[in-house]
Amino acid sequence: MRAAELLADGIARLRAAGLDGAAGDARVLLAYALDIPRDRLTLAMGDDVSTPAQHRFQTAITARAAYRPVAQIIGRRAFFGRDFAVTPDVLDPRPDTETLIEAALEQPFSRLLDLGTGSGAIALTLLAERPDAQAVAVDLSQPALKVAARNAKALGLSSRVTFLRSDWFGAVGGVFDLIVSNPPYIGVPELADLSRDVRDYEPRMALVPTDDDGSGLAAYRVICAQAQNYLRPGGWLRVEIGYRQGAAVQALFTEAGFDHVSLRKDLSGHARVVSGQAPLGQSPSEL
Ligand code: GLN
Repeated sequence: MRAAELLADGIARLRAAGLDGAAGDARVLLAYALDIPRDRLTLAMGDDVSTPAQHRFQTAITARAAYRPVAQIIGRRAFFGRDFAVTPDVLDPRPDTETLIEAALEQPFSRLLDLGTGSGAIALTLLAERPDAQAVAVDLSQPALKVAARNAKALGLSSRVTFLRSDWFGAVGGVFDLIVSNPPYIGVPELADLSRDVRDYEPRMALVPTDDDGSGLAAYRVICAQAQNYLRPGGWLRVEIGYRQGAAVQALFTEAGFDHVSLRKDLSGHARVVSGQAPLGQSPSEL
């Protein structure tokens, strides 16, 4: 069978399953099955496809028709221009989260802490962008830490990152210039509004905070309450938020004593990142 026929069949199967973006997904899955870069696909359309590659494609289409995220099927996702391994143990890095990277790169930092690192996409991107920086990246999930360590190795960043199993700050020591986090922020009542891809396949612990009261804010409460014990004076805390949480999370930052609390929007115009600066304190001359 030729690649073009296989693709048409795959698109039809994904459309029948009710998926938006069926054509784009089928193309990505075909490039994966053929083991060629996506931009080579058009040239390969007239080629005969080997039997193993046909099987690989059909298996991938079956998984996608059951709403498994494309990143989990192909095992990778591009984030901020780099490739990250993705498994069902980690949140699929999203373009929204690139807003957190842009915010974090606004100030210089050399010591970075990433809370709930998942695939490591945030910590590793920041290390790759700042060649003199060092990071501690923590997660409660040991399987997630294994994926993050794999990504660190693939990007040649292992020597600059320490991965730790930790419940937020629990196992963390030291003082940092920058703390970043994309914590779980979905309130239980909102789970029903998530797409099936996310709700049925992404790790629940990366989506919904433990002890949530329905607001999705539980992780921000823990992080805001303790962050200043781990930040140098003048250091920054920056977190990703759900688009309706801007006011609530800014209030938590302010109550915790952060200065210059601000909200940043993503490319879709949604509130996405809250930042605040740890107080500089009085300089000795003012005492
Ligand atoms: N942005 C994700 C979603 O809306 C949630 C990620 C998170 O909870 N940190 O599906």
